[in-house]
Amino acid sequence: ATIKPVKSNYKIASDSLFAPFEFQNSAKKYVGIDVDLLNAIAKNQKFNVTMDFVGFQTAVDQTQAGHADGMIAGMSITDERKKVFDFSNPYFTANATIAVKSSTKDIKSYKDLKGKTVGVKNGTASQAYIEKNKDKYGYKVKVFDAADTMYESLNTGSINAFMDDEPVVKYAILQGKKFATPLKSVKIGEYGFAVKKGTNPELIAMFNAGLAKLKANGQYDSIVEKYMGDKE
Ligand code: GLN
Repeated sequence: ATIKPVKSNYKIASDSLFAPFEFQNSAKKYVGIDVDLLNAIAKNQKFNVTMDFVGFQTAVDQTQAGHADGMIAGMSITDERKKVFDFSNPYFTANATIAVKSSTKDIKSYKDLKGKTVGVKNGTASQAYIEKNKDKYGYKVKVFDAADTMYESLNTGSINAFMDDEPVVKYAILQGKKFATPLKSVKIGEYGFAVKKGTNPELIAMFNAGLAKLKANGQYDSIVEKYMGDKE
C-alpha cells in the first residue's frame, strides 16, 4: 500500500556546502547524493519537495521551529538528536575524521593537538566530539558556520586542523585539496532524514518506503556511484 502525502509540497532544509552530499555545481545548481536521493524518493513515492540550502545549524533550527518540514544534510543519527528529531532508516554510514594540511608532519595522534586550534562546523557531531575532548587533549576550538571558510582557514594556517565527516574530507582531497587524515576516525552515527519529533510521520514513512525501493532497484547505488565513483 502506498502512503499518502498530507501536504502538497514539503519544504526540506539542507546544508549549504557538504560535498558530495550537497554542493553547487559549475552552473551554480545544487546537486549531490542527498539532493538526488530525496528527489528520487519523492518521485518514487509521489510527493513534492522544495529544498533550501541554508546551512547545517540553520537547517536544524528551521526544522525544530517548524519552518521546514524536514531536513536532509548528511545528518548523523545521534541519541542527543533523537530527543528532538524523528529519523528515517539510515541511508549512509560515515565516521568523522581530523584533517590537517598534507605538509603537516607533527600531528600523528590526538595528543599532538595540544596547543593547536581545531576547526569544526557549528551544530555538527564533529563539534560535539571536539568540544567534549577539548580539555583532555588541550586544544583550542574555532567554530565555523560553513565548510568553505573552515577549509580556507586550514589553507591559510589560522587553524591547524579541523574535524569533518570522512567521506566529505576524502572527497575534498579527491577534488585537489592538499589535506591529509593522519588520525583514527571516530564513530558519529549513520545518516538519516529527519523531521521534528512527532511531526510529519507520513514523510518519514514515505522516505523509508522510497529508500527501500531505490535500494532494491539499483537507483541508490547509481546515485552514490555518480558522486563517489572513480568517474571522470
Ligand atoms: N554528519 C555530521 C552531523 O550530523 C555533519 C553534517 C553536516 O555537516 N552537514 O553533524
